Amino acid sequence: MAYSFPTGSQSPGDVRSALSGPIRHQRRLVYAILIIMTLYFAVIGSINVFVFSAYPVAALDYAGAIGVTLALLYFHRSGQLLIASWLVVIILIAVLLSFIHLAEGRSYSIIWVTVLPPVAFFLLGRRAGAWLSGLVFVYVIAYVYLRLPDWPAAEVTLGAWLNIVEVLTAQWFIFRLYERSRAEAFAELEHQSITDKLTGLHNRSHLDTLLQQELARHRSNGQPLTLVLCDIDHFKHINDEYGHLTGDAVLQQFAGVLTRQMRATDICGRWGGEEFLIICPGTATESAAAITSKLRAAFAATAFSQGLKVTASFGIASQTPPDSQRFSDQLLRRADDALYDAKRRGRACAVIATADDTFEAVR
Ligand code: GH3
Ligand code: MG
Ligand code: MG
Repeated sequence: MAYSFPTGSQSPGDVRSALSGPIRHQRRLVYAILIIMTLYFAVIGSINVFVFSAYPVAALDYAGAIGVTLALLYFHRSGQLLIASWLVVIILIAVLLSFIHLAEGRSYSIIWVTVLPPVAFFLLGRRAGAWLSGLVFVYVIAYVYLRLPDWPAAEVTLGAWLNIVEVLTAQWFIFRLYERSRAEAFAELEHQSITDKLTGLHNRSHLDTLLQQELARHRSNGQPLTLVLCDIDHFKHINDEYGHLTGDAVLQQFAGVLTRQMRATDICGRWGGEEFLIICPGTATESAAAITSKLRAAFAATAFSQGLKVTASFGIASQTPPDSQRFSDQLLRRADDALYDAKRRGRACAVIATADDTFEAVR
């Protein structure tokens, strides 16, 4: 079996390191990589026993499997990601280099060193990952250079073949896991950046973006655009009387009612505090007024936290093509003025800002 050791394999990676940020994804990734690594060591160790009778390499593999399992248990119990990461990377380097030495660099054993960077970078970060991988690469290159004169002509044995296949599948697993974790973390961060944490609606900054988009669309397609600003009445009183937690619960329930009543084309978000903005593309004033009547009925029919009854006031402003130029970007200000007028009229009502800059209550 001379130089046909299949591998000593190493499995890639591990995991654990440090992470901050989307910790949950990272932890899952750490577990996944450590488990894959353990399985790789165990399976390849068994191939070395049963196919190649290469017991020293098999012992190395099994030692790797045990070492990584212990690191996994340590991480599971202590949560010490950094220490577990260093343990795993050191185990990986020890197994890789021992295997390459045992195989005397033959059977393409050196390609196993390529599983080190993804593991080391992931677990230890950019600096330590770069240094460790670089040093091990230099070592292996120097080793190969020194051994070169002793090598027979390249021969693709079963062991060599397995080394190539195993490394390629290991890399495939690692990069697939990385990419999935990266994509999930990115999607989660993106969602968080546009969502109001309390209500789950669009947040203010995202509403701003959506409003600009809808204004641009309105200018180009000539369809009417209506904004409805909605503010909970006497909300401060709820906080003062029942506490902030009840206030928060009311905001969540209120947002739930808004969401359920919205049409698919409407865009609804939390404009701030207890104020919500509904953007109604392709909608004229009358339809928006009907939406506010529907909402007021829905609020009246809802038992809010602590059995509270909650009302809201609405300010409505529309833009249709002939007026678009005149009002330019004043739509929001007009809706706000209408809301202020609704409050002035005694609350629990909706007011429309008309095209002649007057206010008209919705019946
Ligand atoms: P009005 O009918 O004139 O709108 O009176 P109001 O009491 O609803 O309005 P005001 O602006 O006086 O008070 C709004 C309150 O909303 C004050 C603020 O502490 C509270 N608030 C803002 N954001 C939150 C939040 O996220 N949670 C809770 N519980 N309260 C909030
Ligand atoms: Mg209010
Ligand atoms: Mg307010």
